[in-house]
Parts: sequence; structure tokens; C-alpha cells
Amino acid sequence: MKNESRIKFIGAHVSAAGGVDQAPMRAREIGANAFALFTKNQRQWAAKPLEASTISAFKANCQMLGFGTEQILPHDSYLINLGAPEEEKLLKSRAAFIDEMARCEQLGLTLLNFHPGSHLNKISEQQCLATIAESINLAHKAVPNVIAVIENTAGQGSNLGWKFEHLAEIIEQVEDKERVGVCLDTCHTFSAGYDLRTKEACDHTFAEFDRIVGMHYLRAMHINDSKVKLDSRVDRHHALGKGEIGWACFEYIAKDPRFDGIPLILETIEPELWPEEIKQLRQFHQQALSDSDA
Ligand SMILES: [Zn+2]
Ligand SMILES: [Zn+2]
Repeated sequence: MKNESRIKFIGAHVSAAGGVDQAPMRAREIGANAFALFTKNQRQWAAKPLEASTISAFKANCQMLGFGTEQILPHDSYLINLGAPEEEKLLKSRAAFIDEMARCEQLGLTLLNFHPGSHLNKISEQQCLATIAESINLAHKAVPNVIAVIENTAGQGSNLGWKFEHLAEIIEQVEDKERVGVCLDTCHTFSAGYDLRTKEACDHTFAEFDRIVGMHYLRAMHINDSKVKLDSRVDRHHALGKGEIGWACFEYIAKDPRFDGIPLILETIEPELWPEEIKQLRQFHQQALSDSDA
């Protein structure tokens, strides 16, 4: 194994308060070599366009601090539902998603992380998944270069994307397969019923993901422990090691080369612990490298 090519990009979802150009510094402060951010207020539909000065400051700060595009995972607004059953909401969501993609493009970013969508008990799962895929196709046509990174969900309410089959069904209907990927959130995966508590459980769950979706679609991960038990179908993050999943899973991900080279993003609930959590994950990765040298 060529260890020098084995890099882990580990960081957290940092604040973009004061401008997106502030995010890289916040990532650096916590010892991260990856980060996630919102490029606009995530709880509002409208946003004013990014200023040219903000765009150039963002790019300059990323370059100065060594954050390449593959280390940065923007997240879209929580209001967007790309599978919305009602036309008005769907059109609004699609326009907002295209705007999010365009903002990424302007910032020189190539990944956009989003939650797939909800059927709101008004259309079938199949219809909703097809609508989501069509929304992605439309966004691909509107904006070049940016990859749509579908996040798996905990399956709360009528949210789809909690079963690996949902993700596969969306991807199957996306025309440009080069520009679609998946972000697996460990908390959501576990809450959706896929066990991650032991090495064996992780082996099994990621083999399932590979069989149903394909590991080559994995573009990012959210690294979170879970406050709720396996198969609870609700989304409650916890600090690493303090929840129901436990450190074995995070050690597994840090050590396994299948998770190299993609953003591994903490969305854990105690930001003051982020430096420690990042450090611990890096130690596990280092351990794996020296074990394979021995
Ligand atoms: Zn997440
Ligand atoms: Zn979550």
C-alpha cells in the first residue's frame, strides 16, 4: 500500500457568519483539513447574490490555507424539497437548488450536499424519487461542473433517502452519472436501521451500501454519533463516543482506505469538542498507516 497517497480530509460544518470567506479560517482554527458550510442563510428562500469581493476572498483564503475543492462540502438550504408533491413548492425548490448550485460554481466548488426530499404522504415513494431525480437533471442542465451529493436521511416523517435502495433509485434516473454522488451520515444511517456499532456491523453495512448503491458513488460523509437507538428513524446527532454508535465506527472509518480523499464532516453537537474529535480521528488514521508499514 502506498501510504503517501492515503489522505484523510477531516473537518466540521463551520459557520459562515460574516461571509463565506470567513469559513476557511474557522476550519483551520479547529485543526481541520476539510469543512462544510452554507453559502446562504439555510432557513431563508431568498439570498442576495455573492459579491465579487466575497468570492475572490473565499478563493484566496482556501488557497492560502490549503483547502482544495475536494475538501469542501457546501450544504443547501433546509427549505428545499426536490421531491415536493405540489407544483408551486417544487418549482420554488428547483429554482432555489439551481441558485445553490450556481453559488457553488461561482465559488469554484464542485460538491453540493442536499437532503433528497419528502413525499408528504401526497405522492408515492416512486413518484417522489423520480421527481428528485428530475430535479437533479434540471440542475445539471442549468449549472456546469457541480456534483449533486445526495445525503442519506434518518427517515424521519416522510423524508426519503433513508434506505440505500432510495439512493440507488434516484441515481438510476439521473442522466449524468458523473455528477451525482452520495454523502452517508453515520447518525442517519444508524437511525435508519443500519448497524454501525462494531467492526463486523460496519463491514456488513458498507458492503450493503456497495451492493445496492456502489462505493464509487460515495463522495462525502457526515461523522456523527446518535442520541437515539438503532432504527429509531429520527435525526438526533451526538458527540463522538457519547451516543448509541460509539467510537468503534469512527475508528473503522478513520482507518479504512475506502474513506480516504473525501470530506469527512463533523456535525456533532458540541463544537468545543471538534478539535479533540478531529485529533482522535487523525490518530486512528495514523495508526492504520503505521500498522500497514510494519
Ligand atoms: Zn448530515
Ligand atoms: Zn442529521
